[in-house]
Amino acid sequence: MLELKNVSKFYYNKGMVSSGFTKVSLKFNVGEFVAITGESGSGKSTLLNVISGLDSYEEGEMYIFGNETSHYTEKDYEIYRKKYIGNIFQNFNLVNSYTVYQNVELILLLNGMKKKEAKDKVIDILKKVDLFRYKNKKVSKLSGGQKQRVAIARALASDTPIILADEPTGNLDKKSSESVLKLLHEVSQDKLVIVVTHNYDQIEEYVTRKITMHDGRVLEDKKIKEYNKDIEIAKRQYSNIRPFNKLLLGIRNTFNIPIKFLLITFVYLFVVFALFFAYAAFSEADYDSDIFGYSYFFNNTSDKRIIIKKNDKTAFTDEDYEKINKLSNVDSIVKNDLLVDQYISVSLDNYYFYGNVYNSKELKKVDYGELPTNDNEIVITMAPYEYDRKSNIVGSKAIIDDLHNYTTKQDYEIIISGIVIIDDYDYKVYISDKIQNDIGNYVNKQNTSLNFKFYSISGESYLYGINNEIIPSSKVPSGRVVIPDWSYVCPKSRCKDKEFKLHVKTIYYEYDKYFTVSDTYSKKTFNRLTGYNYDTYNGAIFINDNDYNDLFNKGYYQSSVFVKNPKEARDTISELEALDIKTLYLPDVIFGEGETFVRIMKIVKVVVISVLIFVLFFIAYFIIRLILKSRNIYYSTIRILGASSKTTNDLLNIELLIMSHISYIIFIAFIVLINYKIIKSPLIYELSSYCKLSHYAIMYVVLMIMTLLIASRYSRKIFKNSAMNAYREEV
Ligand code: ADP
Ligand code: MG
Repeated sequence: MLELKNVSKFYYNKGMVSSGFTKVSLKFNVGEFVAITGESGSGKSTLLNVISGLDSYEEGEMYIFGNETSHYTEKDYEIYRKKYIGNIFQNFNLVNSYTVYQNVELILLLNGMKKKEAKDKVIDILKKVDLFRYKNKKVSKLSGGQKQRVAIARALASDTPIILADEPTGNLDKKSSESVLKLLHEVSQDKLVIVVTHNYDQIEEYVTRKITMHDGRVLEDKKIKEYNKDIEIAKRQYSNIRPFNKLLLGIRNTFNIPIKFLLITFVYLFVVFALFFAYAAFSEADYDSDIFGYSYFFNNTSDKRIIIKKNDKTAFTDEDYEKINKLSNVDSIVKNDLLVDQYISVSLDNYYFYGNVYNSKELKKVDYGELPTNDNEIVITMAPYEYDRKSNIVGSKAIIDDLHNYTTKQDYEIIISGIVIIDDYDYKVYISDKIQNDIGNYVNKQNTSLNFKFYSISGESYLYGINNEIIPSSKVPSGRVVIPDWSYVCPKSRCKDKEFKLHVKTIYYEYDKYFTVSDTYSKKTFNRLTGYNYDTYNGAIFINDNDYNDLFNKGYYQSSVFVKNPKEARDTISELEALDIKTLYLPDVIFGEGETFVRIMKIVKVVVISVLIFVLFFIAYFIIRLILKSRNIYYSTIRILGASSKTTNDLLNIELLIMSHISYIIFIAFIVLINYKIIKSPLIYELSSYCKLSHYAIMYVVLMIMTLLIASRYSRKIFKNSAMNAYREEV
């Protein structure tokens, strides 16, 4: 069944050629129990390795069941070993971190057996070699004789027709040697057994044939006794390892050496945290430079503000606002957006304050006085140095300038309920909803172009010469208008009860509204008809309060959304745009010193993060390689057992992927705990707020790519060598 014809094996070493053995011709059959002896260096091991398919040969031909093997590739040898060869080594070559059971099971799983099927077989064999009671013991805890029994059990388990043992008793005492050899003889009578030994006496009673080697050649080939020639070689079943068992072994390998597991997990943790810090630090810098700047058009350039309009150019409905409010990051909506960029001033007897309009609902506390409780209460801001002098203004009555001119109230009286101290000169005036509405009307009016058309002496004409001011008055009946009595244009007799057309135009809409002239005023009749003071309002046109409200409360075409977390503003913008809304994000329209800085920062960021990933990769690679060095022996062992390079590679991938996933999960759990303030770390809390979900996804992808690269680099290194060389290097 196995035949060597003039086979020679040479070693090439640094340009030198040396001979392992030369022109060996031998024929072996099942049933034989062959001993190979000879002094050290005579080529016994080399011969056995060539027969094992662990080493290739250079000359001659080796036949297995009549098939030539000289053309075999590494892959063919993998199959050859799986199909025909069971090896037993002097130093056992077991997986020390596995139990006895797992060592025997390993070869069955690698041969494609199901775990359940393997179980019966492993138990059966362990009983045969008298190791059943040690089945859950780690191999590293066994004696030498017991280890060799495990090795025999493993060689038997795969049912190969050939068992090759290279000095199996070389490391054993006399008593264990005897029992191991006896066992070997007992259990493998239906196989071809070749045992290399330099202690022939020990084995003499079992052998059927003795081969003596000298200086790489067969010196003597002597038949000792007859062997059983009628043995039928059982057809063996073998295939590739099942994916599930691959996963199982991968998991087993991950955890069975705790210190290795901890070290590698720690390295991955280091990598993912380094990535996180780099990412967060740069996002922070990027972000700060983004929100730094000025605008000509907007007073409120907060990074929380997104200006919105509808794509179809219609006014926002309550339904729209409801949808917007439902977005998770939306804090508040200022419906009348123009309000947000409105400065107002507040006059007291001796002082005046000004500031940007804000809703007092936004205030959580004041530094002096009280939060507003009534519609007519406001809060103002002050710089610290102003504070001492003006602390007596809390509770004082004041007037909002401008407004008292244009709203229904003669004096827009308010009360200052509190003061907020600021240090950034960003003065603010906090007002109630009610005041906000009044100011809103005023602001809208200012942004509306009006022109009036009516029938004068000369027919249809425009009303020029007045200040185009329109004022609400409770004295004017609804649908009516009171206009100036300028007798040369519009004497009362001609204009009364005539149609008066008001053309309203804003950037959003344009329409006509019709009134009837109810009266014309003169200096004398002014107060009676309008309720106002002639000197202040002369020349204006007066309409009813409600008409006025109708005119300027035409709905909101432009609003501002204020977000809770500005770092997620971009996501909110995408969500708004999905609602068919046009957005303008304030940090996008501001300008300032940020510009070049931002561009440089972005380049620096890409460069530094790339370099960092590169450096991290190599640090991680070298550390992990160092740690995995202890695993080299494992991988060369499973290759000797017939594992393909793909299987080996997959096992390594699984092992490293499990550890990198565990590290990533620990990292995420840590970030979550910090965000829920269960673990307190202000720095990481702050940094994590700059990282979005997508950033964590990128970190994950980088970590996994890194893991796969490390695994593939490492396994390329293991596979540079033949199985035997890899093994030799390690032992
Ligand atoms: P034995 O097992 O009988 O002691 P070996 O088969 O190990 O002998 O060695 C046979 C010859 O081949 C020796 O001369 C040895 O120096 C040489 N040899 C064995 N392994 C290698 C190797 N990996 N590289 C170079 N020469 C080797
Ligand atoms: Mg040897």
